[in-house]
Amino acid sequence: MTDAANPFESLQEQIEDAAEYVEVSADALERFKNPERVLETNLSVELDDGSLGVFRAYRSQFNGDRGPYKGGIRYHPGVTRDEVKALSGWMVYKCAVVDIPYGGGKGGIVIDPRQYSAAELERITRAFAVELRPLIGEDRDVPAPDVNTGQREMNWIKDTYETLENTTEPGVVTGKAIESGGSRGRVEATGRSTMLTAREAFSYFDREIEGASVAVQGYGNVGSVAARLIDAELGADVVAVSDSSGAVHDPEGLDPDAVKAFKNETGSVSGYDGATEEFGNDELLTLDVDLLVPAALENAIDGDLARDVEADVIVEAANGPLTPAADDVLRERDVAVFPDILANAGGVTVSYFEWVQNRQRFSWTKERVNEELERHIVEAFDGLIDCYESYGAPNFRTAAYVVALRRVLSAYEESGSWP
Ligand code: GLU
Repeated sequence: MTDAANPFESLQEQIEDAAEYVEVSADALERFKNPERVLETNLSVELDDGSLGVFRAYRSQFNGDRGPYKGGIRYHPGVTRDEVKALSGWMVYKCAVVDIPYGGGKGGIVIDPRQYSAAELERITRAFAVELRPLIGEDRDVPAPDVNTGQREMNWIKDTYETLENTTEPGVVTGKAIESGGSRGRVEATGRSTMLTAREAFSYFDREIEGASVAVQGYGNVGSVAARLIDAELGADVVAVSDSSGAVHDPEGLDPDAVKAFKNETGSVSGYDGATEEFGNDELLTLDVDLLVPAALENAIDGDLARDVEADVIVEAANGPLTPAADDVLRERDVAVFPDILANAGGVTVSYFEWVQNRQRFSWTKERVNEELERHIVEAFDGLIDCYESYGAPNFRTAAYVVALRRVLSAYEESGSWP
């Protein structure tokens, strides 16, 4: 990962690019480029050895014009205030692209969770939930998993909130375990929308995806599920995958499930014995493949690396994996980029289904979840293409932001300002 680009500045640039195609005043645009509020707090928690751990944590509520703030909470040593602000803004436009009734938010704790015991992580999560309590609620702000968080953390947040509020409110967070009110299909939803976006993209270009070569950067929940579904449901060949330890490659195609099983056992993909060679992440990102799926963190590809990218199509499973400079280079080089705010929107879309099910106290079958998800992603894809073709947007990212910004702007204009 390069650290050249500030993700918040990247977000603002992406919104400004779209604003050229939207009738929006300079003042209103300021509103859509900046968070409404950001909580910054320092969680003080007793560690297992009796010492005190102090952890900086944030929650950014970027925009609530279309509904409750919505977005995950990540645990990572690289979390910064600007990163959380950017991620919360991306959520606003993501929810608008797939047209679900939410605004955008995001949270994070500056922590390397691998250094802490489960009991410590529980105390840290509950301490954060106490700080978040006045801000969240099923109609206010609805957290979810993100990097290094999952069902376990969401269950702790839900339990802390419900205990302190003396209520039952499963819709206060999404991404919960099924027994705690989670939805079927939520765990694989982000990987599924990545697969669906790849399918639609290849069909748009009249290209066969069956037999296409694919490289996936990042092999956590999103990357590994995307790899499995692209292989199993589309018949493409996943030839290379990576994680922070490095990349494994087999030009004949890897078995995504076997790599995942190996990673679960050993902690990384490196050393997987079914590969013909191993190399670094930059080599994976510049491999000559039909489809590249960055599924790790922001800024994976900057302007310099973009010059060496050999893929024809990029589908962004991570949030913000390409810098604006990379976008410019890839556009010149005719590499098609399908943006994060569409491709990884499956996670928040199924979070929305979870929230609907929670409110109805009624649960859907996995088939229903996957059908509704497919409908949302395909409609959003078609809307983006329509905008791209009719307004001559420079690339698919700007087209996606044009669709989204229009929706956020309309919601704002319909309700007006108060006081
Ligand atoms: N963290 C995921 C994202 O970046 C999911 C958010 C959610 O489900 O609210 O889209």
